Amino acid sequence: MDKGFSSNTVDLAEACKVLAESRSVQVLLQEEVGSEIYPEALKLMKTGKLDSDLGATVHDLFLDTIVNQATTVWSGFIRNDSDDWPVRVNEYHGVFWVWAVESDPVGYFLDEASAISFARTNWDNVYKDGEEPEFDASEGDGEIRCPFCDTTDNCDHLLLMVDQTFRHAEGGVLYEAFNAKWSKIVEDADDPDFYEHEPFEELLQEVDALADSELTASPDSAPGMSSTYSYYYCSSKKKTLAALKKFTSD
Ligand SMILES: [Zn+2]
Repeated sequence: MDKGFSSNTVDLAEACKVLAESRSVQVLLQEEVGSEIYPEALKLMKTGKLDSDLGATVHDLFLDTIVNQATTVWSGFIRNDSDDWPVRVNEYHGVFWVWAVESDPVGYFLDEASAISFARTNWDNVYKDGEEPEFDASEGDGEIRCPFCDTTDNCDHLLLMVDQTFRHAEGGVLYEAFNAKWSKIVEDADDPDFYEHEPFEELLQEVDALADSELTASPDSAPGMSSTYSYYYCSSKKKTLAALKKFTSD
């Protein structure tokens, strides 16, 4: 699943040029190598030439320090079938690197945006912590299942199945009432410039407020589909019928 490409990355020697500018990195270097050879070591960092013995010492020092003393500036997860794997962007004094389970580091980034962009695109299904993964209809058998009884057929929980692209309900308890309400809104608008998007969203929000769960299947997640479909469910038949009553009385 690791796409394994790396762009905008630099090696540790290049990263050291950036680190050398940091006052606290300089203090650490001085403590580690001693005051006597500190000026020479700092010069190696500033020029990015780490092939001498002293250079190798500096290399090993920062190879570890970048890992051990970094702070996380972005964290997310890779959504898998069974569980989520964490992915993080860490920073140590202007040097960024991407950490993910079972993935070898690809190198260092010298700006945060490039590192986050890499973290977001190097794997499929990457989400920032707190983001809600969209229902992916291309997974599994590709069919929408009722979240309450797991059926792919119509069931008593289905409040509304609606084609968002063509703004037309196609199933569920509210199906007829919804289409009737929508037709009336369009007729009543009586305005040649009537813009359907907003009132349709408002009507869907009315349904959403009555529903306990919503699923969406879009052409992005299910190639070959021409429309985006939303499915609204209630947790019981009693609730779908109460929702119908409320929807038609408003
Ligand atoms: Zn059901």
